[in-house]
Amino acid sequence: MTFVIRCLDCGHAAPFNPSSMHCPQCNSQWREAEYDMAEVAKTFPAEIKERPFDLWRYQELLPIRNPNPTLRLGEGGTPLIQAVNLGMMLGLPNLYIKDERQGPTSSFKDRQAAVTIAALKEGGVTEMVAASTGNVAIALSAYAARAGIKLWAFVTSLVPGVKMREIALYGSQVVKITGSYDQAKQIAAEFARQRGLYQDMGARTVTAVEAMKTLAYEIAEQLTMAQGPAAGATKDSPKWRTPDWYIQAISGGMGPLGVYKGFKELRQLGLIDRIPAMAPIQADGCAPMVLSWKKGLEKAEPVLSPKTRIETLATGDPGRTYVMLRKQVNETNGVFESVSDEDAFRAMHVLAKMEGISAEPASGVAFAGLFKLVRAGIIKPTDTVVVNCTGHTMPAEQFLFGEGWTRDVDLRTKQEQAPTPQEGLLSALNNVTPNRFPRVTVVDDTAEARRLIRRILQSQGDFEISEATNGREAIELVTKERPDLVILDLMMPEVDGFAVLDALRSNPETANIPVIVATAKELTVDEKGRLQGQIQSLMMKGDFLNDEFLEEVRSLIR
Ligand SMILES: *Cc1c(COP(=O)(O)O)cnc(C)c1O
Ligand SMILES: [Zn+2]
Repeated sequence: MTFVIRCLDCGHAAPFNPSSMHCPQCNSQWREAEYDMAEVAKTFPAEIKERPFDLWRYQELLPIRNPNPTLRLGEGGTPLIQAVNLGMMLGLPNLYIKDERQGPTSSFKDRQAAVTIAALKEGGVTEMVAASTGNVAIALSAYAARAGIKLWAFVTSLVPGVKMREIALYGSQVVKITGSYDQAKQIAAEFARQRGLYQDMGARTVTAVEAMKTLAYEIAEQLTMAQGPAAGATKDSPKWRTPDWYIQAISGGMGPLGVYKGFKELRQLGLIDRIPAMAPIQADGCAPMVLSWKKGLEKAEPVLSPKTRIETLATGDPGRTYVMLRKQVNETNGVFESVSDEDAFRAMHVLAKMEGISAEPASGVAFAGLFKLVRAGIIKPTDTVVVNCTGHTMPAEQFLFGEGWTRDVDLRTKQEQAPTPQEGLLSALNNVTPNRFPRVTVVDDTAEARRLIRRILQSQGDFEISEATNGREAIELVTKERPDLVILDLMMPEVDGFAVLDALRSNPETANIPVIVATAKELTVDEKGRLQGQIQSLMMKGDFLNDEFLEEVRSLIR
């Protein structure tokens, strides 16, 4: 597979480095993956026929070198459901619902999370930051849990408690910002910068746009299955179908950007000959793109204080995404439209009653937009329409959590509701974390064991974790870094855990560092004797639950 990351500003092409967020030549954050389409066209789509219908079916067109099957949760491959009743109601016989509720965490953000986390894992990232209106953080958390990546999720206080608890349930640290979503993004960026952590950049994240593309590929394949091959198809040159419209509720607009790119690539491959009209829908109370488009503006006027109850769609300042999306909407003869919260709730209810599909309010916005465009005669009765339907939240049991599972950052001053001036944003960050985390060194010669322990530690506490893969490295690392705790495997080739202990105990600088031995095998009486007085705790691998282990770690670090 051959692809490069192309800078949208200076045109520089670089190999993909998942943890780098800038063009190496001009520092721009706006880049996209570019594939050798002539090469891909040779094998695609013949090759994919035998593959399962999921997101990885399109791996030639995804920026992951070695997709790791152990990170998967069944992403992609969601059904395209014909909405017969709603279609009859609207006089729209070819109405389809792309049912993204059926992803692993019930929103189309699962695609983004699956591809992004796979890339970050390949890039060796172990800790990251993301700002979210809810669903991105839920999806990233689920995949991060599997990959052994710690996520700091910055969400606004408007995000419903059930969603915040779901993020926490997956072991991410929720940081609740009482302020706008745009402010939460700024704080998250500053936090990531201060700590040198990877930060999810929304629509500027190459992997996010690439992931959203797969919606287009699936829709084209599924429509072809539903309606038969498009005109001009032969056995040797298949033709896929394109809908006339793609409708989605938007916040930052990443979904449609990716879907557009997906259809564009199918056209480059000769599988389709046109791109559907794009119809991004916003809530009236936060519709910067719609208002700016209707005014004919080239740049979006931000909405400073969004007034919608549909917090999922609360991006007030779309920045450059608007410029890109506007071009695509205009080029495809699409439209931007907005609807009221009330219309969205009503549409949600209609959808549930007519089609048996219960979605979250953000998807109600998409359906209310559909109703409006049909009524206005912009969508014609003969058009084939696909609506992205997503989001259906898992209510995480509130009693699972004790106190303190969120960290609160209130940007308002005592008496008033107005947003805090910018300088307040940064000092507010100090409340999020202490300056120094307890440091833990994990010593184990197997990567899976190190990953498991790292995951247990990062899922519920703030630790600075370092790893040693053999005994010699362990002695060097512990002597140099003097961690607050060492978690030590016994059975390692050459310098084993016993030898590491002897070395640490005989050096006065490291003699008092507490050590937990985590071992896979039953110890002999003699071996137990050798550990006597040398270590603080002995745990059998596979025999402790994560909370027991954490208890032990906490008691030793205190
Ligand atoms: C994220 C999200 C949106 C907005 O998507 P963007 O393409 O990022 O603007 C809409 N609806 C739901 C349910 C979402 O989770
Ligand atoms: Zn550049």
